[in-house]
Amino acid sequence: MKVHIIGLGLIGGSFALGLKKAFPEVEISGSDASEEHLLKAQELKLIDCAATLEEAKDADVVIIAVPVDVAKKVALQVLDVVGNNTLIFDAGSTKAGLCEAIAAHPNRRNFLAAHPIAGTEFSGPEAAVETLFLQKTNIICEVEKTAFKLQERALEIFQKLGMRIRYMDPASHDRHIAYVSHLSHISSFMLGKTVLQKEQNEKDIFDLAGSGFASTVRLAKSSPAMWTPIFQQNKNNILETLEEYINNLSEFRELLKNDNFQEVFREMERTNHIKTILN
Ligand code: NAD
Repeated sequence: MKVHIIGLGLIGGSFALGLKKAFPEVEISGSDASEEHLLKAQELKLIDCAATLEEAKDADVVIIAVPVDVAKKVALQVLDVVGNNTLIFDAGSTKAGLCEAIAAHPNRRNFLAAHPIAGTEFSGPEAAVETLFLQKTNIICEVEKTAFKLQERALEIFQKLGMRIRYMDPASHDRHIAYVSHLSHISSFMLGKTVLQKEQNEKDIFDLAGSGFASTVRLAKSSPAMWTPIFQQNKNNILETLEEYINNLSEFRELLKNDNFQEVFREMERTNHIKTILN
């Protein structure tokens, strides 16, 4: 199997490592807009060689793992050149804009729109992890628009990487993911900001920070280059989640102000329900 990966950061690099493990005979070429990332990916043996899209257009699989603002353009460029038998899939964290951008392309049936719910706060080729996708969910959108034999090839790859599959329409994907992923990142970034602002006055605050702070602020280490386009593309859904989140914070502040600790207790007790969902 010949695979070409465009974007050799955390996600592209992790696909490369996972595929090498799952399919020992695979040949992987890659490309990246950053010369430094391309060289690093070769040095780390994520890919066997660098290749242009022209050289890689007959690959069995082309994986697009670039930030979501450039993913649309890259997807159209790949669709323009591939033959009938090439599966293209992406990994972008927003799906409605991409699905709309490729909808009318004559080669639409070569494309499978995917979002692996797997990641870390790190980026670039050095962040790649062989087992990143193991036991993670991969959301596939508009599967009926992908040629059946290419769906089968994609499913075989995802299953070999240990992923579970969920099917969703792009609008539902973007709405759900705004709550469970995008809001968590904003909340972590703003918590980090709040503490950093205070730290300028109180030098010791980080010495007092325990594992609770570390785990809630972990996502604030994430790459702005990756997250700004996600917030831009999913703006309307995110604004809705922020409205609800800010209301909840304001209500909590009012309970404290009014010494309503019975309700503070109840709020936390109700939210403890999360234990039954995530362990
Ligand atoms: P990353 O920053 O680690 O890697 C992105 C790579 O794309 C970089 O090497 C960058 O140089 C390259 N790139 C940028 N523009 C390019 C272009 N025009 N052509 C070729 N290469 C280009 O980011 P990542 O975490 O690997 O994210 C990649 C995609 O996966 C994004 O669409 C993101 O939304 C999605 N995703 C990320 C996570 C996560 O937790 N990081 C999880 C699931 C999906």
